[in-house]
Amino acid sequence: MDDGRLEVYKGYRAQHNTALGPAKGGIRFHQNVNMDEVKTLSFWMTFKCAILNLPYGGGKGGVIVEPRNLSRRELESLSRGYIQKIAPIIGEYVDILAPDVNTDSRIMGWMMDEYSKSFGRLASGVITGKPKTIGGSAGRGSATGRGVMFTVREAFKKLGLNANQTTAAVQGFGNVGSFTAKLLYDIGVTIVAVSDVHGAIYKADGFNPYAVEEYIKDKGSVMGFPGTSSMSNAELLELPVTVLAPCALESQITGDNADRIKARIIAEGANGPTTPAADEVLANRGVMIIPDVLANAGGVTVSYFEWVQNLYRYYWTEKEVHARQEEMMVEAFEKVYETSKKYQSTLRVAAYIVALERLTEAMKLRGWY
Ligand code: NAD
Repeated sequence: MDDGRLEVYKGYRAQHNTALGPAKGGIRFHQNVNMDEVKTLSFWMTFKCAILNLPYGGGKGGVIVEPRNLSRRELESLSRGYIQKIAPIIGEYVDILAPDVNTDSRIMGWMMDEYSKSFGRLASGVITGKPKTIGGSAGRGSATGRGVMFTVREAFKKLGLNANQTTAAVQGFGNVGSFTAKLLYDIGVTIVAVSDVHGAIYKADGFNPYAVEEYIKDKGSVMGFPGTSSMSNAELLELPVTVLAPCALESQITGDNADRIKARIIAEGANGPTTPAADEVLANRGVMIIPDVLANAGGVTVSYFEWVQNLYRYYWTEKEVHARQEEMMVEAFEKVYETSKKYQSTLRVAAYIVALERLTEAMKLRGWY
């Protein structure tokens, strides 16, 4: 520590199933990190990667720490110390790390540097989500929200909806929510509500989310954006909109409020925003839920592109990244949709079927009986 004391932090790295390729997943710095959580999150990554047909297995890591209590130098020391300990079990072709809760591109840069030092040469492909100057990909910032938009656009086609005649409410206006709102707006959707931790703003005939973004730079919140009225996050969820995109937290749509959800489509930008009890209620009512493992998989898809570019040492333009992401996500949506028709299931169950089919086939082909 800066004052010379020695503090010991506990950290984990879990590798779930690597039949389809090296493990892939983020690192979380949070005081509630524990082994079960890390293992569960690595399981989730196995499925997300398999649904997108990425050549990866599942990985996840974490350190039990409240990073806000650390200075910049202490945070760097912790990040490097974590990598020193897990260096023998990670690698460009073994287990590839990424950002997660409370870890960002700056931390990815330190971690890549530390691993490269222990490895004896530049190993930029060991970690994704890096700053662009040291191997980050163009298009990573908007990737998750862009993926939400692609899947919603494909859902419109299946339901015979014209984007120009649809409305959307987006919960959360951070990385995922702000890009989701802006990119849905770009394809013609009327954005009637967005929110952040302080509450929601609403305007029946819509507003420009780019202007909300500018407003936040000055005011720090979406609240009070000119021309809108305010409501709670709970009220936002129950608006009569075509698309509801929960892009903030888990367990927002539950057995308690599922009956009052009026959206035609729910696009899960966040991980786990719908509880199993709500899932059942909504499925019975015919609400189309684009599950998190598909809707928010744009982030890991562009992380995969970053890794490929690192291994090739050849970088793509933002336009190329967007085009390749679109191709992979439309293909994944189509596969999940077809599977849901074949098994008469929800898109969530279909997504898990797609993943299990790919995983079991790979395990059988590799002789992992
Ligand atoms: P973020 O921190 O950038 O943004 C979170 C947003 O949610 C902020 O606007 C915040 O004000 C709002 N918020 C926080 N608490 C809230 C509350 N109680 N009610 C309403 N809004 C609240 O985070 P993010 O990166 O946008 O991630 C959001 C979700 O998406 C998380 O579930 C994350 O796991 C998931 N996700 C993120 C990515 C990614 O690439 N960033 C990829 C896949 C999944």
